[in-house]
Amino acid sequence: MPFQTTLTEALGIAIPVVQGGMQWVGYAELASAVSNAGGLGIITALTQPSPADLRKEIQRCKMMTSKPFAVNITLLPAIVPPDYDAYAQVVIDEGVRIVETAGNSPGPIIKKLKDANIIILHKCTTIRHALSAQKLRVDFLSIDGFECAGHIGEHDITNFVLLRRAAQSLTTPFIASGGFGDGEGLAGALALGACGINMGTRFMCTAEAPIHENVKQAIVAATEGDTELLLRRWRNTSRLFKNKVAIEAKKVEKESVTGKFEEIAPYVSGKRGRNVFITGDIDEGVFSFFSPLLSNSAVLGSYSHNGCSYRVNG
Ligand code: NAD
Repeated sequence: MPFQTTLTEALGIAIPVVQGGMQWVGYAELASAVSNAGGLGIITALTQPSPADLRKEIQRCKMMTSKPFAVNITLLPAIVPPDYDAYAQVVIDEGVRIVETAGNSPGPIIKKLKDANIIILHKCTTIRHALSAQKLRVDFLSIDGFECAGHIGEHDITNFVLLRRAAQSLTTPFIASGGFGDGEGLAGALALGACGINMGTRFMCTAEAPIHENVKQAIVAATEGDTELLLRRWRNTSRLFKNKVAIEAKKVEKESVTGKFEEIAPYVSGKRGRNVFITGDIDEGVFSFFSPLLSNSAVLGSYSHNGCSYRVNG
């Protein structure tokens, strides 16, 4: 097995690539395609309007792949707070073996899932949070650098620093998350001590991602300067595609006198972001993004590890 790592062994996958949980993207079509290709596909729980819908989505995914796949449960502020416990119960009832958790105060949900013998990959943006998650006996940490799309945390530590600190400080194996979009990145992550990578935005550009073609083209055309950071004022910083709405929202964030989240909520609403993916109107709402700097090549990368050369196909 050319890609044998602690991650591939524990999860029963062929390639140490995890498709990150992505709101309004992580449906069964994408998750099953990634799992069928040898990585770990992930259904995003909160993309489903209710726990009953998540159950149907998991069942759909089981029809599309016989390989392992996971469910992402993200615990962050939401305009309509979800019933996390009910989502977790569906995951358990459907026999999903792997869950990616992320966000604040994950203790009770992680305990519930661990009690059901589920393998947990928990996302952290600092070593302090990773050490706390270790105490919760998570199986893998997903170390998420400042480069990542979506919720970047409040400490802005880039992966070159964070991954080496993780290798020095943690006893739990970890994967690298944030800024990865090709085989060279995977090779770099393995060299820095990770046992795999978490890749999100890159998968948005695949044929299997169930989002509008305009969004895929916008991502391919974008550069590393095309991201905007929003919601720092509310300690929920997000890296988003720098479109008209994100620029307007940034102005509101800077200029708001009241500092009330309600002022910016209409700009960052997930419902509007979802519409971008459905209609293809890039300026209809905000969406998470980092620039994966894609080439036209179908090959994600070729590289050497442990004396062998590999090619990773995209
Ligand atoms: P939403 O419409 O509920 O909220 C839009 C954005 O505002 C989100 O980034 C949310 O975190 C933030 N937000 C909401 N209330 C807030 C508050 N009081 N203070 C500060 N920030 C606040 O979001 P949605 O698109 O319906 O998503 C639902 C949940 O899933 C959110 O918590 C969101 O952050 C999370 N999410 C998950 C993933 C994933 O990969 N699983 C990715 C992105 C977002």
